[in-house]
Amino acid sequence: FLISFEGSEGSGKTTQIKSLAERIEKSGREIITTREPGGTPIGEHIRNLLKYEECASAMCPETELLLFAASRAQLVRELIEPSIEAGKIVLCDRYLDSTTVYQGVARQISADPVQMINRFAVGDRIPDLTVVVDVPAEIGLARAKGRANEKPDRMEQESIDFYESVREGYLILARSLPERFLVVDGTEPPKSITEEIWLELERRFDV
Ligand code: C5P
Ligand code: MG
Repeated sequence: FLISFEGSEGSGKTTQIKSLAERIEKSGREIITTREPGGTPIGEHIRNLLKYEECASAMCPETELLLFAASRAQLVRELIEPSIEAGKIVLCDRYLDSTTVYQGVARQISADPVQMINRFAVGDRIPDLTVVVDVPAEIGLARAKGRANEKPDRMEQESIDFYESVREGYLILARSLPERFLVVDGTEPPKSITEEIWLELERRFDV
């Protein structure tokens, strides 16, 4: 299975992935956790370029869209497909819905090219479940700012309105695809969020 985790900055995706991975491992299933942009040597270079390189401040939304897609295309073929074929569960920190929401909704690239490029990047590999960790933009940003980052992250410098539209974008997307999405309240204690997601995994995949 492929399970993706989505949400705005500071929503707690990464924390949830860590604790769920531990739980799934205890249940005896093989598990791979990964992230995008990143997750492969090529993807991590792209991640570094997007987030930290000075030249990236001149990046136009179209280039940004293609770079996220390039990282994802590599991740699918190098890591996700082989892992799923080997019977492993893959937990991915962000996936194609990030592009729909950040580059599509928030940066306002039209839906057609976004969808087409997303499709091209992932082939047929749509997540079996997508968990949206939902938090108000203000709370998420405060958490993200509190993180001890060594380098300033270019992608975390947007306005509160930008992150509100990201949040709205995820909620609308989740409502339009209720079969694939689970929305959890990211302001709840991390342990109870993990519990809620775990119950859903048991229900859906018999983990
Ligand atoms: O911390 P995280 O791994 O989520 O960092 C990814 C960064 O890239 C975030 O700051 C997020 O806002 C940004 N992003 C984006 N478009 C995407 C995916 C992530 O702008 N499609
Ligand atoms: Mg994170």
